[in-house]
Amino acid sequence: MQVLGMEEKPARRRVVLVPFPAQGHISPLMQLAKTLYLKGFSITVVQTKFNYFSPSDKFTHDFQFVTIPESLPESDFKNLGPIQFLFKLNKECKVSFKDCLGQLVLQQSNEISCVIYDEFMYFAEAAAKECKLPNIIFSTTSVTAFACRSVFDKLYANNVQAPLKETKGQQEELVPEFYPLRYKDFPVSRFASLESIMEVYRNTVDKRTASSVIINTASCLESSSLSFLQQQQLQIPVYPIGPLHMVASAPTSLLEENKSCIEWLNKQKVNSVIYISMGSIALMEINEIMEVASGLAASNQHFLWVIRPGSIPGSEWIESMPEEFSKMVLDRGYIVKWAPQKEVLSHPAVGGFWSHCGWNSTLESIGEGVPMICRPFSGDQKVNARYLECVWKIGIQVEGDLDRGVVERAVKRLMVDEEGEEMRKRAFSLKEQLRASVKSGGSSHNSLEEFVHFIRTL
Ligand code: UDP
Repeated sequence: MQVLGMEEKPARRRVVLVPFPAQGHISPLMQLAKTLYLKGFSITVVQTKFNYFSPSDKFTHDFQFVTIPESLPESDFKNLGPIQFLFKLNKECKVSFKDCLGQLVLQQSNEISCVIYDEFMYFAEAAAKECKLPNIIFSTTSVTAFACRSVFDKLYANNVQAPLKETKGQQEELVPEFYPLRYKDFPVSRFASLESIMEVYRNTVDKRTASSVIINTASCLESSSLSFLQQQQLQIPVYPIGPLHMVASAPTSLLEENKSCIEWLNKQKVNSVIYISMGSIALMEINEIMEVASGLAASNQHFLWVIRPGSIPGSEWIESMPEEFSKMVLDRGYIVKWAPQKEVLSHPAVGGFWSHCGWNSTLESIGEGVPMICRPFSGDQKVNARYLECVWKIGIQVEGDLDRGVVERAVKRLMVDEEGEEMRKRAFSLKEQLRASVKSGGSSHNSLEEFVHFIRTL
C-alpha cells in the first residue's frame, strides 16, 4: 500500500565530474555540476591537489568533493609550461584516479550514472571503463576550436605543417573548410612544439569509449562547426548546452575578487569604460603594458584594468613598471589584481572589453552584449578572436606588435566611433539570442533536456 505524501523519494543518481585544474575549466565544469544537481543528480567533484578549488558553503552541503592524491608541485606549471604539465598531470593521475573511482563505486549508496571529464583530463576515461561506468567528454572550448583540433591530424598528414610553422604569406591563407579561419588562427600553442601540440590534440579529441560530448556553446553561435562535428567527425551525440554561466551560477574564483571596482564603475557614465583583462594564464611583457597604457591615455577613455599577480614575467605585480605608468593610469583608470568579471561585464558603465579571448571571457562578454578588442595570446583564443571579428562582427582584432598608436585607434574605434556603436547593437542582438537559447524551448535548453534524459537512461 502506498500512502500519499509518504512515498520514498527515489535516490538521486550520482554523476562524477573531473575538472582540469585551471580557472577557465573549473568555472564551466562547476556550472555544469550545479545544472545537473538542479536536474536531480547527486554530484561528486574529483579534483587534483594542484590548483585545488576550495568549495564555498554554497556547495558543501549538496556536493561531495574528493581529491586525487597526485603529487605535482605548484612550480611544475610554471617550470614545465601548460602543455608538458598536461602530459605529466595525465600520467600522474591515471592510477590514483582509478583507485579513487573504485572506492567511490564501493561507497556510494546511490548508483553512479556516469563520469564526465574535462577533455584535457583524458586519463579519466580508462578508469571509468575499468569500473564499467559510462564516460562523457566535456569540452570547455568553442566547438570550432574542438573541430579544428579534430582535423589537425589530417591537415598535418597532408603536409600543411609548413603554413602552421612559418612563412608569413602562407599563414595568411584561409584553411579550406574552415572559413574564415586562416592558418595562423589555428589553435597552436606558444608554449610547445607543434609535435607536442599534436599529441595533446589527438588525446583530447579521441572519443575512445565516450558515449557523448557536451560542449559549452550555443548553436546560434557556431552552427556550421557543430554540424561538421556531429555529422562528420564524432558520430556520437554532441550536446551544445551553453553558455553554462547563463544556465547556473556557481562561485568558483580561485583568486579573491576585488569588488571595489564596482563602486568605481558606479561613478562612471553608461558605456564609457573599457574593461581590460587577459584571463588567468596569459602573460604581458612590461613594454606591451606600457604601449597599452600610453594608447589608453591618448584615447581619453576610462578603463578598468585587471593586472593579475605573476602576469608580468619577472615581476610579482606592477612594482617593476616605470614611473610614467602610474601617471598614465591614475587619471582615468582603475587597476585591480582580479575582478568579479561577470558583474563587471554586466555593469551599464562598461561599453567594451579588451580581452585575450579565452572562451569563457568571450561567452561572458557576448552574454552581456559587450563588444570586444581581441588580443589573443595562445591556443583556441585565436579561433575565438577571428570569429568575434569576422563571423559575429562584434570585435576588432589587434594583430602584430603592440604600439600605442594601434591601441589608441582600436580603443577609439570601439568606444567612440559609429563602428563601435554598430558592434554594440550586434552584440546586444547576440545576447538576446543567447538568452533565448537557454530559456524553455531554446536550442541549448532542449539540448540540456536531451542530455539529462540520455544520462538517466545510462
Ligand atoms: N576572470 C575573473 N576575474 C578576472 C579575470 C578573469 O573572474 O579578473 C574569470 C573570467 O570571468 C573567466 C575566467 O576567469 O570565467 C577566464 O577564463 P577564460 O576562458 O576567459 O580564459 P583563461 O583564463 O582560461 O585563459
